[in-house]
Amino acid sequence: MKQVVYDLNFDDLKEYLEKNGIKAFHGKQIFKWLYEKRVKSFDLMSDLPIKLREKLEEDFIIPSLELVTKQVSSDGTTKYLFKLEDGALIESVLMVFDYGNSACLSTQVGCNMGCSFCASGLLKKQRNLSVGEIVLQVLQIQIYLDEKGERLGNLVLMGTGEPFDNYDNVMKALAIINHPFALEIGARHISISTCGLVPMIYRFADEGVQYNLAISLHASNDELRKELMPVAKAYSLKELFAAIKYYSEKNNRRITFEYLLLNDVNDQTKNADELKELLHGLNAYINLIPYNTVKEKDYSSSGERATLNFYDMLKKRGVAVTLRQKKGDDIDAACGQLRANYNKG
Ligand code: SAH
Repeated sequence: MKQVVYDLNFDDLKEYLEKNGIKAFHGKQIFKWLYEKRVKSFDLMSDLPIKLREKLEEDFIIPSLELVTKQVSSDGTTKYLFKLEDGALIESVLMVFDYGNSACLSTQVGCNMGCSFCASGLLKKQRNLSVGEIVLQVLQIQIYLDEKGERLGNLVLMGTGEPFDNYDNVMKALAIINHPFALEIGARHISISTCGLVPMIYRFADEGVQYNLAISLHASNDELRKELMPVAKAYSLKELFAAIKYYSEKNNRRITFEYLLLNDVNDQTKNADELKELLHGLNAYINLIPYNTVKEKDYSSSGERATLNFYDMLKKRGVAVTLRQKKGDDIDAACGQLRANYNKG
């Protein structure tokens, strides 16, 4: 059976060439054709010997993601709904910031983490995305940007799925995306967001990579966190923060805590006090996220006043805090929303 060419990292490709008695330097050419020139046919790889092009054609396919639909927001946010080989639907989002274009990627079809406020979990995990399917989301969005002569400079793994529940494929895909002969998106421009799978945070700490780590915190004490995020029943805040400290000491990188503001749920003075205690001594900051309302869920977003008030309370307590710009408010921007609504017809 033919293999998806985007499943191969550079070492896999080198190994394939060696096994087939093909000169190693062709690896660099092939990667550049795939990821820099972004061609979709081996025929077009004009500096490769014809024999090699035929061999590659025999062994590999160069697929694309099928675009089912897209939604464009007035602020430039574009949400793509892609169909995969087996018919599964995934979402990827392009966001336009002052600092450049950023893509939000999915890592699984559906999600098993079951956060009570999130639309992604409306569909249980069907399967992990393959390496190639993660790579393709980036490549495809870059191909759309090529039409405007623009570059995709930043990635966040904050779409549907839990990246650390698909650890190996995520790491391999990022290594391809990050590779100097490929898309060359800098490691420090890539953020992985996790709901807090503690053993995987330790593994990531030892990985020796420079990607940013973001932790979905959303609550300031165990009781509340258990209500919002089932993962908190498996790992207490104490265990979570022990893992984070280990990561922090090993990597000397600043950690982001994502904190959704849910009206009357986690935006009170008590929460600000508790957050101060939790973050004490850590090189970290809290990113306050406006909640995108999900029809199927009972939560509502903290209003503008409560949001600014919470921001001020954290500032006054000496906690580093930022307020995330709201994007795609007029489209189904929350994770999993476009797919959920599409499936309903
Ligand atoms: N599973 C990972 C990554 C995907 S979720 C994680 O939990 O971090 C990415 C971020 O979007 C998380 O912080 C998540 O809590 C947040 N999120 C989920 N639903 C949201 C919504 N309706 N509005 C705003 N942010 C949401």
